[in-house]
Amino acid sequence: MRKGPRTVIIKKTPEQIEKMAAAGDILVRTLELVERKLRPGVTTKELDTAAEKFIRSQGATPAFKGYRGFPGSLCTSPNSMVVHGIPGAYAVRKGDILSVDCGIILDGWVADAARTFAVGPISQNARKLLDVTKASLLAAVEQCRVGNRLGDVSHSVQSVVEADGLSIVRSLVGHGIGRDMHEDPQIPNYGTPGKGVKLEEGMVFAVEPMVTTGRHGVRLGEDHWSIYSQDGSLAAHFEFTIAITADGPQVLTPWHESAS
Ligand code: MG
Ligand code: MG
Repeated sequence: MRKGPRTVIIKKTPEQIEKMAAAGDILVRTLELVERKLRPGVTTKELDTAAEKFIRSQGATPAFKGYRGFPGSLCTSPNSMVVHGIPGAYAVRKGDILSVDCGIILDGWVADAARTFAVGPISQNARKLLDVTKASLLAAVEQCRVGNRLGDVSHSVQSVVEADGLSIVRSLVGHGIGRDMHEDPQIPNYGTPGKGVKLEEGMVFAVEPMVTTGRHGVRLGEDHWSIYSQDGSLAAHFEFTIAITADGPQVLTPWHESAS
């Protein structure tokens, strides 16, 4: 068996998971605020400013701001941009899709979540991308159970996405999360069922399918942050922070059912 670098997965107590859920609650409400403000003409900078103001009003801190020098509280990634878009002068247009990723720190605990929003009516192609990417994340949640393997989580995302002819971005992965935004293990969105780390009570994962309507390759933007689909195809990103508990998966950043 080939051994990789040592993986140290820090498990959380139920009390710690409750603290992460409190951070998650602020995060969900931040994304809902962004959704309410999202209309043609609004700039991604305006969304970011409103999000940061809200986060701080709740006694929390935006986890992304200053992280390796990132300037925003949100990552805002329109259309063919997959992730890590810097909020700025881009004014959202009717028919856009916009991926919004956010991290929150509350009392030293981090939550991380993302959603891709539709701005008004979108193409059938884009609608399918959003629906399938979201469905792949929900499939992954179902696999976050004691006794399953990490490969079961990864494979569940892959099977939903590829069954619909869409592509998994392979060079970007999900991660463990807790006091640090990025903890072990890495969580690819593709993999082999029954393989990998055995899931145990107290593990908390940020699972985040990144999916394109074209091929899986990506390229780095000129700002050295934003990552685009290599072929210019549309991209979506949905992410939950999920705790593995004795009672099954607990999504710590649940959005409301009606949300896109
Ligand atoms: Mg994220
Ligand atoms: Mg993440």
